[in-house]
Amino acid sequence: MSTSTPHSHDPLDQVVVQALTDVHAQHQGLFTQVLVMVDSDVSFDDANSYRTAVKAAGSGGEERYSLTSASKGAHPRPSGISADEARLSSRDSEVAALQDAYDWIEGQGTQLQNVRTIHVLVVSNIGPCDACKKRLEYFCDDVVRLFDKHVEVMVDSVYDTAAAGTTMNRSGFDSTYGYSGATACTTASGKKFWRLRQEFRPKS
Ligand SMILES: [Zn+2]
Repeated sequence: MSTSTPHSHDPLDQVVVQALTDVHAQHQGLFTQVLVMVDSDVSFDDANSYRTAVKAAGSGGEERYSLTSASKGAHPRPSGISADEARLSSRDSEVAALQDAYDWIEGQGTQLQNVRTIHVLVVSNIGPCDACKKRLEYFCDDVVRLFDKHVEVMVDSVYDTAAAGTTMNRSGFDSTYGYSGATACTTASGKKFWRLRQEFRPKS
């Protein structure tokens, strides 16, 4: 007879709490860390799961998610995002973090056998701006495509700043950080955070 208490030592809870702590250990500004878990592995040993460094804005040099590059493999600027907004956000912390995570999944994740699920946490202090929301959509589609639509993919935006969900003026245009439809979550240890999940399930 099991006497274990569900959720009391949920490894995913601990991963979320650690990542939010790491993000908030940075200086003033917006920071992002992306965690990739293959089949729920949380060892972050680079073989079955991977954790990027905590990326700062201005990391730059990555084109896939900049929305401003015409290079091969770079995503085009989506409708609804102006050229100015794409440019001003093109070195947001998400851009480098998503690129790093994509590179690991493409290089290592796709080499693993019998993968069933890819779970990605995009952890930030305040949540993605409107342009970065599009970047997260592109990223989720990229992961689905890397596995030829054969694996379940979950991409969670996770953040915990109270200001999230508010609209701010950024160099002349308004951008909303975080999602109006995010779910309020609380870990077993009492840590509160917001989560917005994108999910893909393969046809069975
Ligand atoms: Zn952004």
